[in-house]
Amino acid sequence: MAMQYEVHVATGLLAGVRQVASPHQDERPAGMAVDLIVLHGISLPPGEFGGPWIDRLFTGSLPVDAHPYFAQIAGGRVSAHVLIRRDGTPVQYVPFGARAWHAGVSQYEGRSACNDFSIGIELEGTDDVPYEPAQYETAAGVIRALLGAYTTLCASRIVGHSDIAPGRKTDPGDSFDWARMRALLA
Ligand SMILES: [Zn+2]
Repeated sequence: MAMQYEVHVATGLLAGVRQVASPHQDERPAGMAVDLIVLHGISLPPGEFGGPWIDRLFTGSLPVDAHPYFAQIAGGRVSAHVLIRRDGTPVQYVPFGARAWHAGVSQYEGRSACNDFSIGIELEGTDDVPYEPAQYETAAGVIRALLGAYTTLCASRIVGHSDIAPGRKTDPGDSFDWARMRALLA
C-alpha cells in the first residue's frame, strides 16, 4: 500500500513533508514543461546510511573535515527536489516548480540539460544494497501525487540517472527494482 502524499501546486511543495530549503536551485527556463522524473541513489559517506550529510550537501554546508570523501565533493553545488531516507521518510529541498541541480550533464530523447524539464528524486542507497520496501512505498506515493498535480508528467517517463548520463552515472544502480516500482504505480 503506497503512502498518500499531496502536492500543493501553487507552492510546489509536498504537504506535511519536512522542508529543508536548498540554495542550489534556480528558475526553470520560461515556458518549460516538466515532463520527466529522474530517480537517483545517494549515500554519504558512500555506503553509509543515516546522518545529516545529505542535508548538509544539498544546503552547501558539508563540513570538509568530517570525512575524507567530503573534501572531494565539497563545493559541488547540487540538490534534488526530494530525498527518500532508508526508513521511507521524505525530505524536500526544492519546490517542484523550480529547477533543482541533480542531473548534471545529461540527455533524454535528444534533449540535453535534463534539470530544465525534470523532477529529481533521490533514494538513500547504493548501487549494490537493495533499497528498502518503505522507500518504494514513499516513492510511489510521491510520484502518484506528482502525476496528479502535473499533467505533463507521465508514469512512462520515469528514468534513472544512469539512463540520462550513461557512462558518467550508475545510480540508482542494479539494486533498484524497476519492476517493483512500476507495479506500485500501476
Ligand atoms: Zn544521481
